[in-house]
Amino acid sequence: MKRRDLLKAVMSIMAAHSLGGTAYASTTKMPVLFIGHGSPMNVLRDNPFTQHLNRLGESLPVPRAVLVISAHWLADEPTLSSTEEPDTMYDFGGFPDALYEVSYPCMGEPDLASQVGDDLAQYRSELDEHRGLDHGAWTVLHHLYPKANIPVVQLAMSRNLKIEEHLELGAVLGQLRNEGVLILGSGNIVHNLRRLDRSPDAVTPDWAAEFDEMIKTALLQRNFDQLLARDKSKYPLWALSHPTIEHYVPLLYALGAATEDDEISFPYEGFDSGSISMRSVKFG
Ligand code: ZN
Repeated sequence: MKRRDLLKAVMSIMAAHSLGGTAYASTTKMPVLFIGHGSPMNVLRDNPFTQHLNRLGESLPVPRAVLVISAHWLADEPTLSSTEEPDTMYDFGGFPDALYEVSYPCMGEPDLASQVGDDLAQYRSELDEHRGLDHGAWTVLHHLYPKANIPVVQLAMSRNLKIEEHLELGAVLGQLRNEGVLILGSGNIVHNLRRLDRSPDAVTPDWAAEFDEMIKTALLQRNFDQLLARDKSKYPLWALSHPTIEHYVPLLYALGAATEDDEISFPYEGFDSGSISMRSVKFG
């Protein structure tokens, strides 16, 4: 029996007997996460960043499923992965062979994908029953839920939406928190591949530290003008920190799914390769 088939059988037995140890209870409102994923190589590393993911996975209520909004899936319309058994996608190049030997054999959850698709119907949502997991999802989940025993659905960010509409979609997703679904945005708060410094003694440049701190403060103050890039005086910082916006936008889904009474905390702060912000954010 394949590992994934075995997992499926165990999960259905557990469901039939209402087993699951610290499993999600229907009264628990799930928190929302944004994780700075950085290099795919993190999947092979054991460092303070990956250890914080281990701790988060152990400390959160066990979700029924994870809904991932990753920087690495953009589509014309908001698209849900409705794959039964998503493949691990190696959507990168030039990395050591060892990275291509890691896989994340979780299940999908097509029923949840179509439910969310219905919830987002007014945004012309679509389903993709062949989509695998991109590295923005699986390199994080590998440390968050190493047993790959939680079903995963991904939502593609639509290229056709305005920036504030991503926040709006996040708000629609927020209701899933009461149904045991962990909403997980995966990107980076500062992400400019042309400004990487891969030397071991790389120093974080001032502009990256300033932008990261600005977003941290804006989150704590719920300053939406800053968070939606409406403050024109900060445009040079935005241009440096996000030459393209796809690594920032998953934060807006997480923020949208949060509510005013959610406490905001930062389970991890730091930089990789000088300027990549690895900050993670927990709402609730
Ligand atoms: Zn990325």
